[in-house]
Amino acid sequence: MNFIAGEYDVAVVGLGHAGSEAALACARLGLKTVGFAVNLDSIALMACNPSIGGPAKAQLVREIDALGGEMAINTDKSLLQIRTLNTSKGPAVRSLRAQVDKKLYQMNMKYTLERQENLDIKQAEIVDILVEDNKVTGVVTKLGAIYKCKACIITTGTFLKGRVIIGDVSFNSGPSGLFPANELSETLKRLGFKLMRFKTGTPARVDKRSIDFSKMEIQPGDEVITPFSYMHDKIEIEQLPCWLTYTNKRTHEIIMANIDRSPLFSGEITGVGVRYCPSIEDKVVKFPHKERHQIFIEPEGLNTYEMYVQGMSSSLPEDVQLEFLRTVPGLENVRVMRPAYAIEYDCIDPTQLKVTLESKKIEGLYFAGQVNGTSGYEEAAAQGLMAGINAAMKLLNEPPIILDRSQAYIGVLIDDLVTKGTNEPYRMLTSRAEYRLLLRQDNADFRLTELGYKIGLVTEERYEKFLKKKIQLEKEMQRLPGVMVRPSEEVNNFLISKGSTPLVTGIDLYTLLKRPEIDYKSTKFLDKDRPHDILDSVAEQIDINIKYEGYIMKQLRQVEHFKALENKKIPEDIDYYQIHGLSNEAKEKLTKIRPTSIGQASRISGVSPADISVLLIYMQQLRRNKEDEEQIG
Ligand SMILES: Cc1cc2nc3c(=O)[nH]c(=O)nc-3n(C[C@H](O)[C@H](O)[C@H](O)COP(=O)(O)OP(=O)(O)OC[C@H]3O[C@@H](n4cnc5c(N)ncnc54)[C@H](O)[C@@H]3O)c2cc1C
Repeated sequence: MNFIAGEYDVAVVGLGHAGSEAALACARLGLKTVGFAVNLDSIALMACNPSIGGPAKAQLVREIDALGGEMAINTDKSLLQIRTLNTSKGPAVRSLRAQVDKKLYQMNMKYTLERQENLDIKQAEIVDILVEDNKVTGVVTKLGAIYKCKACIITTGTFLKGRVIIGDVSFNSGPSGLFPANELSETLKRLGFKLMRFKTGTPARVDKRSIDFSKMEIQPGDEVITPFSYMHDKIEIEQLPCWLTYTNKRTHEIIMANIDRSPLFSGEITGVGVRYCPSIEDKVVKFPHKERHQIFIEPEGLNTYEMYVQGMSSSLPEDVQLEFLRTVPGLENVRVMRPAYAIEYDCIDPTQLKVTLESKKIEGLYFAGQVNGTSGYEEAAAQGLMAGINAAMKLLNEPPIILDRSQAYIGVLIDDLVTKGTNEPYRMLTSRAEYRLLLRQDNADFRLTELGYKIGLVTEERYEKFLKKKIQLEKEMQRLPGVMVRPSEEVNNFLISKGSTPLVTGIDLYTLLKRPEIDYKSTKFLDKDRPHDILDSVAEQIDINIKYEGYIMKQLRQVEHFKALENKKIPEDIDYYQIHGLSNEAKEKLTKIRPTSIGQASRISGVSPADISVLLIYMQQLRRNKEDEEQIG
């Protein structure tokens, strides 16, 4: 029997990585918010790898942080190890990767949610969404409780009709043995949403005491920890190492000998899997010439013997898993604590959403995270934050917050989803961001913190901290061209020691810093007026801005062209079927996606440059007709 259990502004269905950010954003913006999870112990569950960040994902985490989100802070609080990847490459691909204590990560996030004003969290399975006149009005739990709301954010991850598959055994389940959510899928279908069936997989967890680490290469963290959050200057912990080992010919033979028992190749698994996170059997079949595959052994936490076997996700039968694991150097006597498995789940086609992540069909109904066809904690958290912000902005009668492709990886992520859609789990990559030299992990605060402050999510403390950094950087960038460096024995010995050409005439420090082998920090002795309190993060900005100035300017010019097309707004009520000269495919795709700008229209697959020209001419005609009417009027 249904009963009214509460009245809220926003209901967030799911408190995973997306739901946590969405719920916190709404509550922090002053909205009365309720968050649901099938099990409160699934809050911020890291169902797969015990790490946050890596290429492109680190940029997302820093952007979430710069906007006032929680993931980076929670990561720093739960840190086991952190490394900066790609240090030998350009700044566009340099990225932090943190190993975290999974239980601590969940506990910290749960406590942050519990302490958050305006936010209630509840253990309940949402089975129905109430809609009146195409507007969301409430959600219903399995126990019949009705929670009225003006907006609802669906962030159900891998739980919707979750089915776990290991060999020839499969059963309805969410991740990590949690209950699946089986009824909400039918509700979404009834409301007219197109669902897709995706799949992901995870490797076994093994007992640390059964591993021979002497046969592996240690992978320590960075000597000096770079915190993930801009709010933290320093973190000092005793870092735990990871370990590197490899599969070998014997491993691959066992997998191939049992490939007929693989649900992936028998057709038992129908969900579409993650291209950039393949299972070990996928790798062995697809890359038969490869003699070995890298395996990273990663700690799951401080107070546990569970170790994560990165690179060996699988859905082969348990006996086969043990057999192939024991061929890996260091794992000869390994004991498995949790078997590897694959999970299939329902998600929606994200082209059914606006760039605010609100659904086009039902007002006030938003979607974020894995349910939108993405894969990854970071991708989920980024969407959760933006869905939360935009649900709040709408209820507060404020304009929506839309990040474009030149502002943030978050903008690239959401634009790709709602404009192009995805027919496999979408994972963020640096190659997806055309302006990646501008979208670095080191400058996310310069790109987004002002906006986060304007929205009301960035705290005074964070804003003050950012302003201090910004002012310091601006002052130094103005001062350095005026600092002259004259040739001397000391100067030239320094340059020679750096493998740099000695000076014959004077040069300003700004120009000297353009030399790849010379950095800001090491030139302190050449610069007597340099302020003593320059932040490391400012020193990093100075080196990047000066050394990559030419490339950055070139990319900024490309952005001007991009923005010109983004600013060509398309009338909301345009009828593409009235436009002569448009291809039928373009009419169909433009009507389905309803792009907001010429820029977005040009990114829809099947809409050709010729179609864009026709559309531009049509819009010009519309504008002229309107001007004529106004003149006659
Ligand atoms: C087996 C497995 C392997 C993975 N492998 C990878 C990988 O290799 N690489 C990678 O990047 N990512 C991987 N992931 C994905 C990663 O875990 C997710 O991307 C991430 O957790 C998604 O976050 P989310 O917030 O969208 O959903 P989740 O973190 O799944 O959270 C969903 C939340 O919704 C709640 N919920 C669901 N339905 C309901 C309902 N009806 N009512 C109330 N609450 C509900 C749940 O309780 C949970 O709190 C894997 C996940 C799994 C399960």
